[in-house]
Amino acid sequence: MSGATDEEEGSIVRFPDHFIQEVVDRTDIEELIGRYVSLKRAGSNLVGRCPFHSEKTPSFSVSPTKKMFFCFGCHAGGSAITFVQKMENLDFPDAVEFLANRAGVPLPMESEAGQKKEGVSRKRVLEMNLAAAKFYRACLFDPNLGGEGMRYFRQQRRMSEATIKHFGLGFAPNNFYSLTNHMHSLGYTDEELIAACLCGKSQKTGKTYDYFRNRVMFPIIDPSGNVVAFGGRVMDDSKPKYLNSSDTPAFKKSRHLFALNFAKNCCAERMILCEGYMDVIALHAAGFEYAVATLGTAITPEHARVFSKYTQKVIISYDADDAGQNAANKAMRVLGEVGMEVRVLKLSGAKDPDEFIVKFGPDRFRQALEQSRTGFDHKSEKILSSYDLSIGSEKLKASNALCTLIAEYWSAVEREIYLAQAAKALDLPVEALKNTVEQLRRKHQRARTEQESREAQSTLKNYGDRINPEAVKDVRAASAEETVLGLLLIFEEYRNAVEKGDIALGASDFVTSFHRRVFESIMERHRSEGGFRFELLGADYTPDEIGRIQKMEVTRQQLTQNGPEVFRSAVAVLRQAKSDEDHQEDDIRAHLDRLREKRSRLHKGKVDTK
Ligand SMILES: [Zn+2]
Repeated sequence: MSGATDEEEGSIVRFPDHFIQEVVDRTDIEELIGRYVSLKRAGSNLVGRCPFHSEKTPSFSVSPTKKMFFCFGCHAGGSAITFVQKMENLDFPDAVEFLANRAGVPLPMESEAGQKKEGVSRKRVLEMNLAAAKFYRACLFDPNLGGEGMRYFRQQRRMSEATIKHFGLGFAPNNFYSLTNHMHSLGYTDEELIAACLCGKSQKTGKTYDYFRNRVMFPIIDPSGNVVAFGGRVMDDSKPKYLNSSDTPAFKKSRHLFALNFAKNCCAERMILCEGYMDVIALHAAGFEYAVATLGTAITPEHARVFSKYTQKVIISYDADDAGQNAANKAMRVLGEVGMEVRVLKLSGAKDPDEFIVKFGPDRFRQALEQSRTGFDHKSEKILSSYDLSIGSEKLKASNALCTLIAEYWSAVEREIYLAQAAKALDLPVEALKNTVEQLRRKHQRARTEQESREAQSTLKNYGDRINPEAVKDVRAASAEETVLGLLLIFEEYRNAVEKGDIALGASDFVTSFHRRVFESIMERHRSEGGFRFELLGADYTPDEIGRIQKMEVTRQQLTQNGPEVFRSAVAVLRQAKSDEDHQEDDIRAHLDRLREKRSRLHKGKVDTK
């Protein structure tokens, strides 16, 4: 062990190597990643859009044979374990456990794995959430405790008992200690309850109390069926109307969607995005089981990527008021950025989908869905209506505005369709508009490239290389180190040559300490019983560091020149750099010695003059 995890050693779980290897061997990486990213075959690899950065053209690749993934855009990469760490926001041991459970590999005995690290784990939070969901449900169905909640659901919201049960709805009693006492009786501690965001702690008395009180409760269930969080709604007009769990080890507001656990089963074609829980429940009850909602937050790029895992098309059905329409515009942009087909539902005569269905019935809603308009229709209508097209100069302005809008679309097919629509609406030849659009796209592309390189440079200037900050001191040596490490990662014969001393290379030859650490890990793993395995590095490095190490390997794999002369010359650069550094140190030392001598002579001189 080395690096940042040093101080935690002893408290961190350390699984045996053979166990980690078995988990990785028994994980189908294509199937695992395919659950999060839609992958297409490209030769022996699979490619898709990276789940770790926003992109429109796929630069994310998975190798089923090597059991690795790598993104050529953001350089995320590693084994299935690294993928789960990043995707599910887990630390290394939890990610191994996650995959072990999936692959049906029994966990090693507690004593072998060592002590679980401090803090409340995701698993524990999920257990507490499940117990709390059962408690809230029991309260709702208890006439003495939950009568008011049941009346609210059944009478005010016209829900059937089947719907209430289907969504696992519940009721939090109007009492500060109902849930707290119940959870204590199940053996959960105050610290755990607070970490799960089920309880708060009073500043005044220091006592733990129920976070949700006198509210109807909506459990948030993830696609694997875990209760990850709760939303609670008041039954009158008091504020706040909705109270949601904060982020916990099991929940990220910016990623989870309400009712995705149901919607994922029937949404290959499309999903409906609503503003609130009530809209979603009303739509499901009316047969639209592909409706979901964000949880007390505007849609984020993370949500957009979640959508893109399950569906091609999202129909936004937000409230008819200005706030709702502004939110819809933003959602359109965020979803469009990951390449989703987005449509907007226009409901007239009702303030939200829930009210619409009550007033006009599910058939009218289905009609409205079929007539939902593309984001382009929505925006172009606004542009066309704000100019007088019978005046030449106004028509030119409208044409420019429409071209600017069309140029933003990433898909060439979409651009063709919208160009035809715009040409028709403006009564202009398609070719003329097309030229303008292509010019705009080239201009945008140049601006983007410039901006990206500016950003990259300023990041480098301000923060340097976060993973290997010493690389800037000697760029040539650092790059030679990457060559050496890349080759060592790929070829066992180079590792053998170094191990046997056929090639003189040791840890002290490395100029940057990050690369030195990687070298030591590779050689240590090489000498171990099972031989070198990439995924075993994971325990000692952060996912970002693993991505960097993976990049060194991928860079070499893309090159055809990987022979012994390449390895030897890179080693020679290192030794040269090291001796230069040593010489520099010698120079400095000699310089200091001379200074010291001079000073002592002066000193003596002073003494002499006294
Ligand atoms: Zn990426």
